[in-house]
Amino acid sequence: MRDCAFRALKMEGGVPRMAFPDRCMKCQHCLAVCPTGAVTFDGKRAADSVSVAGLSLPSFEAVENWLRTRRSMRHFAAEDVDRAALSRILSALGNVPTGCKVRALTFTCFPTRASMDGFRRDFISVLERHRDGTIRARRPARFLRPH
Ligand code: SF4
Repeated sequence: MRDCAFRALKMEGGVPRMAFPDRCMKCQHCLAVCPTGAVTFDGKRAADSVSVAGLSLPSFEAVENWLRTRRSMRHFAAEDVDRAALSRILSALGNVPTGCKVRALTFTCFPTRASMDGFRRDFISVLERHRDGTIRARRPARFLRPH
């Protein structure tokens, strides 16, 4: 209960209860740190969670090298990403650290090369119409405003 940074929990009848749902950031920290696994959250139970015990973790050097060498990807294969691999990647996104305990992140995924190309065409068309003055946003996106 003390671990909730937002003080959303309160002791009632000897057990912690959600007392201030409007404060809860849905970070699930309470679920993760409960020493007896007694906390359930949004239908999730500690018993169904992945345990770190027995997990093979990368070495410090491996993580350090990965951080040093990571780059954004600017060349893409022409083939669609395998659906099973894509599904696994999207599922892993549910566990990314946010640095601020906010879980309400939205990712947009274009599952096929064709859908990505369509979005790119539409996006460029909107940019061109902004540039030409054909359409005007009430408040242009920051990257469209003059510096
Ligand atoms: S999910 Fe996070 S914010 Fe909500 S009660 Fe648990 S620890 Fe607090």
